[in-house]
Amino acid sequence: MSSTPAKSEASEAVETPDVLIVGTGLAGLGMAMKLLAAGHSDFVVLEKADGVGGTWRENTYPGCACDVASVMYSYSFAPNRAWSRMYAAQPEILDYIKRVTKEHDLDSHIRFNTEAVSYEFDEETDRWSVRTASGREYRARIVVLAHGSLHQPSVPDLPGMSRFEGKLFHSAQWDHSVDLKGKRVAVVGTGSSAAQFIPEIAGTAAHVDVFQRSAHWVLPKADRPLSSFEHKMFRALPFTQRLYRLAAYWTHEVPVLAFLNPRFLGLLETAALRMLEKQVPDPVLRAKLTPDYKIGCKRILLTNDYYPALQRPDVDLVTSPIAEFTESGIKSADGDLHEADVVILGTGFSTENRCASEHIVGRGGITIQEAWREGMTAHLGTTVAGFPNMFMLMGPNSGGGAQSILFVIEAQLHYVVECLRLMRARRATRMEVRADVQRAFNARLHDKLGRSVWNTGGCHSWFLDSTGSNRQSWPGTGTSYWRATRRPDPQAFVLSARPEGRRLVSVPRPAAAGRARKRG
Ligand code: NAP
Repeated sequence: MSSTPAKSEASEAVETPDVLIVGTGLAGLGMAMKLLAAGHSDFVVLEKADGVGGTWRENTYPGCACDVASVMYSYSFAPNRAWSRMYAAQPEILDYIKRVTKEHDLDSHIRFNTEAVSYEFDEETDRWSVRTASGREYRARIVVLAHGSLHQPSVPDLPGMSRFEGKLFHSAQWDHSVDLKGKRVAVVGTGSSAAQFIPEIAGTAAHVDVFQRSAHWVLPKADRPLSSFEHKMFRALPFTQRLYRLAAYWTHEVPVLAFLNPRFLGLLETAALRMLEKQVPDPVLRAKLTPDYKIGCKRILLTNDYYPALQRPDVDLVTSPIAEFTESGIKSADGDLHEADVVILGTGFSTENRCASEHIVGRGGITIQEAWREGMTAHLGTTVAGFPNMFMLMGPNSGGGAQSILFVIEAQLHYVVECLRLMRARRATRMEVRADVQRAFNARLHDKLGRSVWNTGGCHSWFLDSTGSNRQSWPGTGTSYWRATRRPDPQAFVLSARPEGRRLVSVPRPAAAGRARKRG
């Protein structure tokens, strides 16, 4: 168990919101909007940074964009009629997030620059005591963890890395003070992020060496600007934008059926190989770019300009493994030294245990590390046995398929609101998923995943933990997840009430009560 941060004078000021949300990415803000819509205004949202946006605030690398169509990568309850393109870029997505925050008057609920560092469940009051880095305490009936699943940059410990004398940074922590013009740049990694920024920096940098460990499957991205006619149509006839959304929904939904039944993947592989053949005439380069595992095993790259960028005269694809870093570059296993002024790590995120370093202590003193000793596990990706009154958004095995994560998040927001409704109906002060229900649920889930391409496709992706167990994917379509999260099953939970705690059962307060709170 990690130690509780020391109390400071500031901790004397205790706030007691009914619901405490952690994180102001699309999940946390969505939770806030859904609570307001359900009549709950007594909530606080903690944000460690000084602005909203989560991953879309953090990732600012050139070319950063979404590979899910914008009509599907936005809240269904807050559509954006003005998306400039089919697939929006990061600045436009961040603007959308800021705009909906303002439109829903969420700022008054958010405590910026406030990092939650400790969560302890108080069995006397059925409340969570949440402490922040500055020592402030929040005592909340409900905690919603919305701090994202891809937010801890994975920085590999490659031999000699500390010797390198040039600039080195991770794609999620892009150093905009480094001017790449005329520099020799080495990129490590060829996943979704790298495939987006490599075409952007090629041509600015004097030379780019791309270190590929495994080839990724690539499919075309149906991106284009949305026309002024389409914008007018969306405004005048909102159902037409819903039709676009429906089309995007099924575009993401249908491949999931093949991911779950890999024998149907042939069509997707043929399409990807055809694109590779069309875009890469050189058979030697083509062979290097042909993956040796089944399509869908890792997230497919949707890009039209990645292969062309790799064929520029000032870009080299290096497939010999990285042997070591030197003062002036990277030496590959074939003995070549690739001189570099700047190294950019497109090496993804740590997903093994997203709460690994968190101090979360549930019922009976159990820590999240103890609960997840054998790997991250939850019920419907939202509740964990031993941690009453705590909900996770994008928790274990709720995403990582192909459906827009926003769709998954919305299903979870609905589920959490329904759980709060169930607690109120039962006059419960405590709601905890039953351990046996969670175990049986996960046995079924991992049995299904065992047959999916994510587990059997012959690759190791961030969906799998170090034991090879899939801790990210939902073993079904988005539709099946939506269905599973319509109503919480009362039988799946232990619902109890402390006699003295009954008065703490949520009674929605007038909106002004929430807004009047001061920032911490
Ligand atoms: P990623 O897909 O995990 O890719 C990491 C890359 O780094 C892989 O090519 C990996 O090689 C390589 N790598 C990692 N450690 C390495 C090492 N020690 N030596 C050499 N190479 C190494 O990470 P990402 O590109 O940041 O994307 C992560 C996820 O973020 C995506 O799957 C996606 O869900 C999300 N994302 C989404 C968008 C979007 O448009 N919505 C954009 C960017 C990211 P191997 O393949 O061999 O492991």
